[in-house]
Formats: sequence, structure tokens, C-alpha cells
Amino acid sequence: MHSYFEAVKMPVSEELVSKVAEDVGKLLKELSDSAGPSGMEEEVRDVIAKEVKDYVDRLEIDALGNLIGIKKGTEGGPKIMIAAHMDEVGLIITYIGKDGFLRFTKVGGVSERYLNAQRVVIKTRKGRVLGVVGSKPVHLLKPEEAQKVPPLEELFIDVGASSEDEVKKMGIRVGDRAVLDRGFKRMNGYVVTGKALDDRVGCAVLIETLKLLSEKEHDATVYAVATSQEEVGLRGARVAAFKIKPDLGIAVDVTIANDVAGVSESDRVTRLGKGPAIKVMDSGLLVPPKVQEYIIKVAEREGIPYQLEVISKGSTDAAAIQLTREGVVTGAVSIPTRYLHSPVETLNLKDAAYASILLSKLIERANKKDLEKLKGDILKG
Ligand code: ZN
Repeated sequence: MHSYFEAVKMPVSEELVSKVAEDVGKLLKELSDSAGPSGMEEEVRDVIAKEVKDYVDRLEIDALGNLIGIKKGTEGGPKIMIAAHMDEVGLIITYIGKDGFLRFTKVGGVSERYLNAQRVVIKTRKGRVLGVVGSKPVHLLKPEEAQKVPPLEELFIDVGASSEDEVKKMGIRVGDRAVLDRGFKRMNGYVVTGKALDDRVGCAVLIETLKLLSEKEHDATVYAVATSQEEVGLRGARVAAFKIKPDLGIAVDVTIANDVAGVSESDRVTRLGKGPAIKVMDSGLLVPPKVQEYIIKVAEREGIPYQLEVISKGSTDAAAIQLTREGVVTGAVSIPTRYLHSPVETLNLKDAAYASILLSKLIERANKKDLEKLKGDILKG
């Protein structure tokens, strides 16, 4: 295997990792507490734009609502796209009943298992409305019903109104979208929990990567893309990659951490606090082994802990980026996260800090020659 970097280890300091982790924590609170259902990512986009504007040469927003921050490298340098999605799984109002209760369906892969008995925030033209997802009271359920997760048809949103008219006066109409209402909190040490860590943590990693690159010279021009509509089919990333035509694309998203009670060692996929995961495979992407090795080499050189990720269900923006135009050299870096698509997603801030440092170091060292060689090596196999 060709080595792209000399194998000198220069471990990143614990001090830097802690500093970046604290910063990710602050960003993540603001990002996770923002409401950004698919196709309505503007609240999240505003936060990211405010955070990155001083660290990029240019900010663009395209027709799908992607936010593209461009930080120039040297003339003739390669183009590197790093992407993280802004949207979160949510609900959409389908019907307003005469009795003032709302029916809804899902936008993205949120499970009924997590919906019942949750508070939700509905985004209307006029502002936010708080509601709760209600269902038949447990005391009235037959014993066999009580064992089951209530299906979508039996769930409704209660906004405290008693008529259709009252709901309409609150500014709610069919097509309004809602997200889970659950505030971001720190738990023990660097472990945190919140509702939309998927993929606001990726957005925070993008911001931190740009901050780490500030005042650094690099050949590569960075396209940091906060993408829209990932949860409904990787839509934003597809058009952004087409426009950018990157030499290397890397998506930053969460992945399954199944390191919880009662799960055997072999089924844990990834673990919290063991470093970012370098993706090998998911249901939409096979990372070329040479690309995987390229990312691993950066991690090893910098003394950054990492895990390898192989999953057969779920995918990320990287899948769309790879299949753009005649194909893009693509990899992915993931943040191990427990209880995905639930109101209590849980992760370790240090994994996100290490991911930011990994990406900034990769970009700092990338040059046209290496990336062309990487592409050539993929072709050779
Ligand atoms: Zn995601």
C-alpha cells in the first residue's frame, strides 16, 4: 500500500481535544435546539452561517437550501467537499379535525416507537406552536393493545385547541411541519444528549474544521456544505456535489453506536468515546479501500483514535456525492451515536472534536498530486 504521508506520529494534544470538544458542546446546544425538519432548514442554516462567516471567503445558498462555505486554497489546488446535513426527522400535518386534533405523517425515518407521548414543536407561518403526541390512554387499552407500539393512525397531535377554527387561528395549516421538542443537555463528562444530534453534530464538526483551518495555509479549496433534505433521500448533497465537482468528497454524519446494556461485543458496531468512525460500508456506499486508507493514514499520523464502521442499514450524503456526474472519490467520517432518530440521541463530544481535527489535518495536507494519485490508485485497484 502506498503511503501518502511519512509515518511520523505527532499526537494531537489533550488540551486541544478538550478545547474543541467544549466548543462543539456550545455549538451543538444551539444547533440541536433549532428546529429544522427536511425542506425547512433555515433556522439551522442561519446558525451555521453566523458561525462560519468569518472563516470562509464566500457563502452561497442554492435552490435546495444548501449552505456552501468556500475557503480558498492555492491556485490549481484540489477541491475538497465536506458535507453534513442540517435537517432532522420530523412530522407533517395532514389533517385538522373538527375537534381540534391534528393528524400527521412522517418526514424521514422517525419511528412510532419514539413518537407516542412526546412534545413536539410545530413550525407555522406565524411562529412555533407547542403540541403533544397523544394516543388512547393506557387505562382504556386492552391487555394485548398495551403491549404494542401504537400505529401512526392511532396517534394525533394535541395543541390544546378544541375546534378546527381555534387551530387555524393559531396559524396552523395542513403541510406545517413539526419536530420533537427535547432540549440539549450535558450528561456525564463529555457525553451529551439531544433530539437532533443527527446530524447537527456533523454541522458542528464542519464549523470546527473551518475554525481549525483559519490562518492555516492549504492547497485545497474547501467547500463546507451544510446540506438540506438528507433524511428524505440525500437530496441537497446531490445537487451541491454536482455544482462543486470535488476531487474528494467526505460526508460527516452520525453512525450507530450499539454499545449498550445487554448487547454482545460483536454487535456493538461502534462505541462512544473511542474516536470517530472511518466508514467502510453502509447500505449506499462502499468506500474505496484506498480512500479509507488515506483517511486512516491521517488519523494515525496525528495520533487520532478511530474506529472502522461497517453497517448494512442506513446511508449518508456520501452515497449521493459518490454517484455524482462520472463519480466522485468519496469517503465518510462518522460520529458514534446511541438511540438514533429518537429524542434522546446520545454521543461523546470528544469523538466530534477528534473528527474535526482529523478533517482539518487531512485538508491541510491535501494536494493535487496526492489526490490525483489517489484517484489513479482506485482505478488500478
Ligand atoms: Zn444523518
